[in-house]
Amino acid sequence: MTTTLGPLAPPSTRPQTARPGPVPDGAGVEVHETVAGYAAALDRFRDAGLTVGVVPTMGALHDGHCSLIQRAAHECDVVAVSIFVNPTQFGDPADLAAYPRTWQSDLASVEAAGGRVVFSPSVAEMYPEPPGDPGSGASVPELSGRWEGASRPGHFDGVATVVVKLLTAAGPCRAYFGEKDFQQLAVVRRVVRDHSLPAEIIGCDTVRAEDGLALSSRNVRLSPDQRRAALALSRALRTGATLVAAGEARGPVVEAAMARVVAAEPLVDLDYAAAVDADDLEPAPRCDGRRPVRLIIAATVGGVRLIDNLDPLGAPRAPGRLRPAEPVELSFT
Ligand code: AMP
Repeated sequence: MTTTLGPLAPPSTRPQTARPGPVPDGAGVEVHETVAGYAAALDRFRDAGLTVGVVPTMGALHDGHCSLIQRAAHECDVVAVSIFVNPTQFGDPADLAAYPRTWQSDLASVEAAGGRVVFSPSVAEMYPEPPGDPGSGASVPELSGRWEGASRPGHFDGVATVVVKLLTAAGPCRAYFGEKDFQQLAVVRRVVRDHSLPAEIIGCDTVRAEDGLALSSRNVRLSPDQRRAALALSRALRTGATLVAAGEARGPVVEAAMARVVAAEPLVDLDYAAAVDADDLEPAPRCDGRRPVRLIIAATVGGVRLIDNLDPLGAPRAPGRLRPAEPVELSFT
């Protein structure tokens, strides 16, 4: 079935159909619910000589997602957005149940950002194996043990598995992922390489609110006080980056400074604040520019897990990305 944009029931209540109809040639978004229909639709675009960009998402789309779609639309002839809340990357059933679902506004966002195709499969469509059968998933153990992987066991196996499935269905394409999920991006690059998938992975800048908070689908679960407290994450990253810019090259010192910023905010429970090698995500003893370094942070605010990261040696930020560093108290001990 091919559906153009309009009032639609959420995917779980829409009938599963095997074959898409003809691709509409006017404005609008066509929605596919089956792997076969989605794959055939993208094949038809490629057969017509068009390039395909894909943007995998879990829905609840915000300006961060839309920036990926817009970039893909700028660089590719046709953009396909998958909207699939992937259960295998959630360890906590309550977290999965609480994940926001905003189907109607997602469709409008995809169209407004320049997307042409939406892929919204059911769980059974993506994981056809019988209940209890784990299937043959993908994993990237070298990159999955630390940080998010340590706090969310199995998370990156779920990410790697669904990315292999989504990109196999999509076929040859450019695939756009946010640097916001920095460890995920590393896992995606690796699994795509290891599985020889015909996708070029494009990492995209993090989009932030004016006050510096990285946009996240989870932000809607924060109360006003919690949202204000959550600014400690970007504040800590700026503090770390300012230290590095001022010449502090010792990774552990930068990490301690970031942790102090978060500790000053009682509503925020820090998981980690680390300086890591940007390629292999191992702890970075030095932030002196000889190796690419990333500052990464994760914390829980009112039960909501938030992550963020920053390149401390990167080019000065443009307005609307991370605001210029505010004066911070520099400490080198
Ligand atoms: P999600 O729906 O959270 O799985 O995210 C889908 C894609 O959007 C992933 O590649 C994310 O890294 C990316 N993304 C999420 N938030 C942002 C953001 N604030 N800026 C840029 N990309 C983002």
